[in-house]
Formats: sequence, C-alpha cells, structure tokens
Amino acid sequence: MEGRVWNFSAGPSTLPLPVLEEVQRDLLNYGGTGMSVLEMSHRSKTYGGIIGDAEATLRRVLDVPSNYSILFMQGGGTGEFAAAYLNLFASRAVREKQRRLGRPLACDYLVTGSWSKLGKQEVERLGGRVNVAADGAASGYAGIPPAAEWTLGAPDETAFVYYCENETIHGVEVPPSAVVDAVDPSVPVICDMSSNMLSRPVDVGRFGAIVAGAQKNMGPAGVTVVIVRKDLLERDEGDADVTRALPSVLDWSYYDRAGSMPHTPPTFSIYVCGLVFRWAEQQGIRELARRRAARARLVYDEIDAHPAFFRGRVDPACRSEMNLVFNLPTPELEATFLAEAAERRMVQLKGHRSLGGIRVSLYNAMPLEGAEAFAAFMRDFYARHG
Ligand code: PMP
Repeated sequence: MEGRVWNFSAGPSTLPLPVLEEVQRDLLNYGGTGMSVLEMSHRSKTYGGIIGDAEATLRRVLDVPSNYSILFMQGGGTGEFAAAYLNLFASRAVREKQRRLGRPLACDYLVTGSWSKLGKQEVERLGGRVNVAADGAASGYAGIPPAAEWTLGAPDETAFVYYCENETIHGVEVPPSAVVDAVDPSVPVICDMSSNMLSRPVDVGRFGAIVAGAQKNMGPAGVTVVIVRKDLLERDEGDADVTRALPSVLDWSYYDRAGSMPHTPPTFSIYVCGLVFRWAEQQGIRELARRRAARARLVYDEIDAHPAFFRGRVDPACRSEMNLVFNLPTPELEATFLAEAAERRMVQLKGHRSLGGIRVSLYNAMPLEGAEAFAAFMRDFYARHG
C-alpha cells in the first residue's frame, strides 16, 4: 500500500495489511453497534463474542488440546518471567513434590540469550532456587550448547524447565522439540515463545505452559498469551503461602476461572489479535512455517555468500528465522547500511542496543517481497562497498 515501508522491527512489528484495513473499516462503528471496540464495555455481549472468537481461533490454529487453557493477560513477556515461577510453585503438583522432597525444588533454566537470562534473573530476584542447565554465554550466545551437555536436575528435585524458544536479541532459535525431547515427561516445560509463536506448528501437548507477548507475530502490544495445561492450575486453596506470594494480576488460575476477564482486559489489543488469528487460520500454520523459512533463506543466502562482509554471528544450526542478526566490517559501514536502507524505505533494522549491528525481523506479516527487497539491497550494497 502506498506510503507504507518495509518494516523490519523486532516488535511491536508489522501487522498483516488486511487486518489493519479491517480495523480501519470497523473503527468507528463495529458490527453496527454504533461504537468503536475502543469504546466498548468488556462486559458487553459483543465483546464477549470478540474475546471468545479470538480464543477459539487460536485454539484451532495451534491445535491446542482441550486440557489446556488459553489466557489473555497483561504484563508482557516480562510479567510472565515472574508469573511462570509463582504459578508453578503455587500449583498442587509442585507443592506436593516439594513436600515429598522436604526442601525447595529447583527451577532449571536454559540460558540461550538475553531473554532467558532475564527470565532466570527474575526467579533469582524472587528467591527461587535456579539451576542453570545450559548457558550460551561462553560463545556470546552465538549458539546453544548441545543437549548432551545440559545439566538438567533430577526429575523429583525439579519444579520445571524453562527456556526461550527464540531469542529476539541474539537471533538464536531452539529447534521445535529439542527441549521437550530432552526433559523427563513428568517435569513441566515452560517456554517463552514471544517472538516465534504462531510462525510454525507446535506440539502444545508436550508443554506445561507456553507464554508469549503478542507484539510480534500475534498483534499489538498490551496482551500476553498464556497456554497452560489445566492440571497446573490446580491449587490447595487456603494455602496462605500461595496467596501471599502470587499477585492476582499474575495468577493464571484467577484469569482461567474468569475467561481471561477477572478485570478489564486490554480490549482493543485482544480484538486485533483475534483478527490476526483469523488471518493466520486462512493462511494455514504450515504455510506460515513454509513462508518463514523462505524469507529467512533469502537473507541467510546473502550472509553465507559473503561471510567476511555480512558477519552472521549465530551457529547455522540454531539461526533464527524470525530475527536475523549480523554485523558489517565497521560501525561506519553499518551506519551507511542503515541510512541507505532507509532511503529504500526499509526501516527499523538497527540491532538491539546491547549488541549493535543489524537485525532484520521477518515475522509472519512480512511478505516474501519484503525479504526479497532486503536481499536485493544486501547484494547491491555488497557490490558497492564489499
Ligand atoms: N521474551 C522475548 C523472547 C522477547 O522478545 C521479549 C520482548 N521483546 C520479552 C520476553 C519481553 O516482553 P515484553 O516487552 O512484552 O515484556
């Protein structure tokens, strides 16, 4: 559409154009109600339909089994760092296991980049016992230590295993079942899928919980999706330790009992997510996975063609298809690259402030043409500066 750019932001990020157009069309008068969704009570029948459809559609798209709840929460991916820990330790299953052991259970963390590291630090801040089962720090998070080297705790001493499937800053993506394959099935696996959710099929039934901020593949900022196995929501109510430690706004069970609306939800964000879920359903999750691989291939082919110039920093075995990071030989060339890209209407390509370099995010809503345009620009840039 005229005036729009190729937007490679890591999030909030580009949304499917048909979704934005539908939002625009319905903005002032949603479905004949005479009002915008922005102005609508979350207790209205119309809004009940909107949130119910959003949940049902996501359930179909990801084939979420019936023994899992889908929750729409707030607090972002960051809120879930604490929520995952506090909810698991409030669950009857974990408390019983801990009583049997007679001392605090450990939380196993696979640290593969900034986001899993922050997740781990939050648990330490809250006084949890963390076992770092793997840490990619030695390689500067350019790769994932092989599963054979992970030091996972004994199942009867471990509350859960946590990892981040796609490290948005470091551009590292864990292969789909690498972690659930390595963990004893009695230990719940908690996964942060903030930046690759909805981009490929996921075997939800093998996870304890999947958490994700919406603002990459799913919709606007402001809503956090939690998919959690229902038995992990079971509590021994009246257990004072549990209620003291778990604020209501982080309590998965509180949201589950109230259909994600124990209080005012981020109504507009959930509405837009619902439209994105419908768009994703029309494309098909397998087709979305095929497209993400095709987009990433175009850019990685350029990196691999000139590795001394486009300096990819990630081990090809775990390079992300969502966030592709590389450096150029000098910071000056990187600045020129960003400026020339902007002249071609390709924007939001600056690497995260902690790493520098270039980061190109290729989420679901990025058409193949956007990745083609970027790859062509890389070729042209190399021809002139390489
Ligand atoms: N996890 C991942 C993988 C992320 O990319 C981000 C944010 N980009 C977060 C967690 C934190 O999410 P939020 O900013 O919504 O708190």
